[in-house]
Amino acid sequence: MKNYGNYIDGQWVPPVSGLHIETENPFTRKTWATIARSGPEDVERAVAAASAAFEQGPWSRMSASARGKLLWRMGDLLEANVERLALMETSDNGRTLSDMRGIVRALADNFRYFAGLADKVEGAVPPIEKADYFNYTRHEPYGVVAAITPWNSPLLLVVWKLAPGLAAGCTFVIKPHEVASVGTLELAALFGEAGFPDGVVNVVTGTGAEVGEALVSHPKVRKIAFTGGDVAGRAIYQSAARDFKPVTLELGGKSPNIVFDDANLDNAAKGSVLGMFNTSGQACIACSRVLVQDSIYDAFIEKLIAHTAVARLGDPTDPATEMGPMGCRQHFDKVMGYLDIARDEGATVLLGGTAARRPGLEGGYFVEPTILGDVSNTMRVAREEIFGPIMAVIRFKDEADAIAIANDSDYGLGAGVWTENMRRAIRVAHQLAAGSVYVNSYRVVSYMSPFGGYKSSGLGRENGVEAIREYLQTKSVWFSLNETAPPPFGKPYG
Ligand code: NAD
Repeated sequence: MKNYGNYIDGQWVPPVSGLHIETENPFTRKTWATIARSGPEDVERAVAAASAAFEQGPWSRMSASARGKLLWRMGDLLEANVERLALMETSDNGRTLSDMRGIVRALADNFRYFAGLADKVEGAVPPIEKADYFNYTRHEPYGVVAAITPWNSPLLLVVWKLAPGLAAGCTFVIKPHEVASVGTLELAALFGEAGFPDGVVNVVTGTGAEVGEALVSHPKVRKIAFTGGDVAGRAIYQSAARDFKPVTLELGGKSPNIVFDDANLDNAAKGSVLGMFNTSGQACIACSRVLVQDSIYDAFIEKLIAHTAVARLGDPTDPATEMGPMGCRQHFDKVMGYLDIARDEGATVLLGGTAARRPGLEGGYFVEPTILGDVSNTMRVAREEIFGPIMAVIRFKDEADAIAIANDSDYGLGAGVWTENMRRAIRVAHQLAAGSVYVNSYRVVSYMSPFGGYKSSGLGRENGVEAIREYLQTKSVWFSLNETAPPPFGKPYG
């Protein structure tokens, strides 16, 4: 069993408290590592390192092309470490190893994409109306970024921040979730191996209350990139407002997946199962509300149940396993609580509805994939993010009704539309209040295409060319072409 300290200024550093947090494998329920239980003094040290790296170190003098080369090297290193990192993520949060392998491998290309973008951030020479002035703009990095991530996909979500942020020239202090920090700590050490200067990437582990709050409110942190729930997101946004810090917030969802009566029902059922039960429902973009047109309701439910009932729950390291456990005990209890809420609210359990008691699952925090029928959009199971394998099926009458129900949510992360009528598909896609809309598909993500939420699902975008702009601020530089300064009064604004 390995005991991890914080990763600060290129070194493993024990926490000032001397305390640790046990990291439990949610499949075996055994402690497999410990991480540092840090506090504000550790945050202080990490921010000082990141701040010095930004202002004084070799990083501050490096050209954008040189930063790109380092990022490319990180891609290669990540690829060489796929197996090791994927297994750490699986041990931390129970996601299937086959999923994690695919994700970590793709992250190598994420680094390479932003490696290529690093030296293509161009300012402009605006054609200003004043003949006696010359003006240009440049995009400058904010400085020290606080990156705070959740437990469900720590490596993916931290790379979504690191790759564009480092390409932009920022430095980082990362706080991963306290139940799944190991992969991020190991990733940080690879930055040293790739040749990044010390202090550019730092990791401080611990809780939101003891580390996260101190990090977000630190005066030398100039940008916050957060992925997590809306409760923490709101607290972070309020804290950031005190010092006018820019934020990228990637929050939760209650995403609708609309199945029209002219859809290919087999495809729609498969897509709904993938969108909901892959990752055992522990995905921000999960289509936890499936909206089904009245006329095909019974036929569609039959297909949905058939495709879900065969899902293989099991050891996440077994290649045959399709659904792993809930990420931790506390989360398992929360998800189970929603099964009681569903019954109290009058939803009908069409499939599942219990903890999974299949042979071989005794050790882990498993919940049966659950389909709830007779759900109305006002029920808590239709409004609140459960973040587990519980799908709420809601009926609708026609296109207008479907759009109204879909958009009647605090969230706006993803949405799906299943129809063979492409005019309808485009019409509906444009009216859905969501950051990602999928037509006859669900849950496709690429580092080349922007990802983010509408409404309470967040602010800002990760991935794609625009992601790098989240880490840059624009400066406008003015030159006078006048040999003699103009009179100080009588001519406002030059
Ligand atoms: P969480 O909000 O409980 O925790 C996220 C992180 O914030 C953790 O590191 C936590 O320690 C920290 N934190 C908590 N309170 C804080 C505070 N006051 N100040 C600073 N940091 C604080 O979320 P979680 O349970 O780890 O993850 C699940 C949530 O993440 C879900 O809502 C899910 O939808 C969301 N998520 C969103 C995306 C996306 O891209 N939109 C992706 C994955 C997960």
